[in-house]
Amino acid sequence: MPNNKNEPKYQTTSNTIAVKQIPVDRSPSGSHGANKIQIKEQKGVFQQIRTGMNTGLVLLFVLLPFISYGGRQAILFDLEAQQFFFFGTSLWPQDFTVLAWVFIAAAFLLFFVTVFWGRVWCGYLCPQTAWTFMFVWIETRIEGNRTKRLALDKAPWSSNKILKRLAKHLTWGLAALLTGCAFIAYFVPARELYPDIFTLKASFWISAWVWFFALCTYLNAGWMREQMCLHCCPYARFQSAMFDGNTKTVTYDATRGESRGPRKRKQETDLGDCIDCNLCVDVCPTGIDIRNGLQYECINCGACVDACNETMDKFGYQPNLIGYFSENALEGKPKPVYRSTKFIGYGIAAIIMFIVIGIDMNNRSEIQLSVIRDRQELYRETVDDMVENSYTLKIRNKTQETRYYRLSVDNRDLFQLSAQQELVIKPGELLDYPVTVRADPLMLPGTPSPIIFSVSEVGHDETAVFQESNFFGPIFTASCR
Ligand code: SF4
Ligand code: SF4
Repeated sequence: MPNNKNEPKYQTTSNTIAVKQIPVDRSPSGSHGANKIQIKEQKGVFQQIRTGMNTGLVLLFVLLPFISYGGRQAILFDLEAQQFFFFGTSLWPQDFTVLAWVFIAAAFLLFFVTVFWGRVWCGYLCPQTAWTFMFVWIETRIEGNRTKRLALDKAPWSSNKILKRLAKHLTWGLAALLTGCAFIAYFVPARELYPDIFTLKASFWISAWVWFFALCTYLNAGWMREQMCLHCCPYARFQSAMFDGNTKTVTYDATRGESRGPRKRKQETDLGDCIDCNLCVDVCPTGIDIRNGLQYECINCGACVDACNETMDKFGYQPNLIGYFSENALEGKPKPVYRSTKFIGYGIAAIIMFIVIGIDMNNRSEIQLSVIRDRQELYRETVDDMVENSYTLKIRNKTQETRYYRLSVDNRDLFQLSAQQELVIKPGELLDYPVTVRADPLMLPGTPSPIIFSVSEVGHDETAVFQESNFFGPIFTASCR
């Protein structure tokens, strides 16, 4: 194996090979920066999967707010009403624990998938990747392929260059504005938002938020691109902690590929299978050379796998010189029946969290009840020697339909509710309902005495919610009784 003392070495578990260092520019790319990573568009199986998934997710993101359910937008965070509508379910701030469980469950699911497939989230599902590739697609349609874009970057300013740049930035701007609208459409009814934005009728704050998210999208996907993954995303930094020897990540099979070197097709050679065409670097959205080993910058997008397979095919070599391999598979170790504790642990944690979500949703009440005692006076004595306490019940109908409720108190031999006991509450309405409770002071076990209010749906006693309060009366000595 040819070796040069000055060349760095790439250590694998099976051998030590000399590699040619390919300079990778880590400086901010910028749209027109001289050091910008210009990604070569690549076709292939993994790019088809990625494009399909990205397109599906972008369409889902844009179209979901247009779905109606029960006469309203199916998914809507109504900040003004402090309600989150999710199809037939309404979540109120006090129900947001379920959203916390959902995020925790999603995190464990992500960790579980990471142990198995490495950073497959980054490559196939992450919005940063989806929008970056979308903006690169627009750039390629307007400015041409990678070679033409590199030439345009270097070319002096001319009417052609200005025109292309203008067209690109305007199209990026439009895509970013639509993204801003799509995002805000989860907070403002979508069917009003889009016309209002494009006819400049939207309120100042709605317009400001749309333009803010449009600007973030334009900067992220157009200018920052891989810099977000390299310097801002925390997941990139800690994802390797979840890997084990069986985690499949995009890996270069150095044993097979080295020593690398150019050659003609069908030429007999002692070299390894890597023909050093550099295509795997040209297509990489983060500008790395996967032949240098596992790097935190790799988002597992598989573009280099497709590029290298194309080359392998042209040269009549076996595919997958670069592929989704695990360290153990490359070393020829058999697949273990038992993966790592991490793998099982994350899987169990994700399952537990989904069970918790199910239980939380099942136990979630559709009635909210709170009881506030009248603070003006502890109690009132009536002409018929009874005592009265006043309360305000706050009852919320958390459903999306008008409902009928029954109000009651416990211990009806002692407490009498002097208020209408059947109520009608509109969807989402918070009813302030004043009630007075009477009791015979001689029957009170003490003062204050506990009193429990309950509200249930008429005909559905199982929906009852309870709230305890205090009932005050005069203090009697034993002789008085
Ligand atoms: S090294 Fe390959 S898989 Fe990793 S980011 Fe670059 S192109 Fe994608
Ligand atoms: S694409 Fe394949 S053959 Fe070409 S440089 Fe990369 S690893 Fe070598």
